[in-house]
Amino acid sequence: MWPATETGGRAPAGVDVVRTADVIVVGAGIVGLSTAYQLARDGARVTVLERRDVAAGTSGACDGNIMVQSKRPGLVLELAKASAAMYPELLDEIGGDIEYERKGSLMVFENEDDLEVLTPVIAGQRAAGLDVQLLSPAEAAEIQPGIAEHVIHATYLATDASIDQLALCFTLARAGRARGVAPRASVSSSRSCLARATSS
Ligand SMILES: Cc1cc2nc3c(=O)[nH]c(=O)nc-3n(C[C@H](O)[C@H](O)[C@H](O)COP(=O)(O)OP(=O)(O)OC[C@H]3O[C@@H](n4cnc5c(N)ncnc54)[C@H](O)[C@@H]3O)c2cc1C
Repeated sequence: MWPATETGGRAPAGVDVVRTADVIVVGAGIVGLSTAYQLARDGARVTVLERRDVAAGTSGACDGNIMVQSKRPGLVLELAKASAAMYPELLDEIGGDIEYERKGSLMVFENEDDLEVLTPVIAGQRAAGLDVQLLSPAEAAEIQPGIAEHVIHATYLATDASIDQLALCFTLARAGRARGVAPRASVSSSRSCLARATSS
């Protein structure tokens, strides 16, 4: 690509460019698919370049936890809260039969010293509006029977959720296509990807 600063955002003289997309998203994982779908929904012409397949990266291999309580207070926690809050409406919007359950999340700790680190984190999370509870091993075992005996503390957030991450990715890909997102196979170098994107 030519630097926009040198050409004022235009192709240099003699270079014939057909603009086929307002936005090119590289990667059909959860981040790319969600970005592409939402941009297309809002009226942008979007092309997604993927060198392998939908959810072929970490989005297809992860645990599917939508877990806010594992985030430290600050920007990351705020982003996680905002992201988690989007799911019910997004799932209604894209349809499909996606398993999604707000079944809560439990984090377990096995050292007495962990409490020193945990206490300010929980305080910050509560100040940010999360109802994180510090549980005894017996209370944790009520939520998760069979929990290991050496667990001495646990934290629990009832609003955390889990989702079928593969169904989510494929449904987002289909919903994006229905809104005009153009999927394209690409090779690994972004230079070649962009060349292919403008070649038809
Ligand atoms: C074992 C494991 C468990 C996890 N568990 C959770 C969890 O429970 N909850 C959670 O929120 N997060 C979890 N994560 C993290 C989560 O999976 C990732 O943060 C998330 O999937 C990243 O999504 P992504 O779309 O950015 O990347 P990816 O899903 O990796 O997608 C990137 C895509 O880009 C494509 N690509 C890369 N380069 C190019 C190129 N040059 N041209 C074309 N295509 C390209 C790849 O082929 C791939 O398909 C886990 C991660 C792992 C490894």
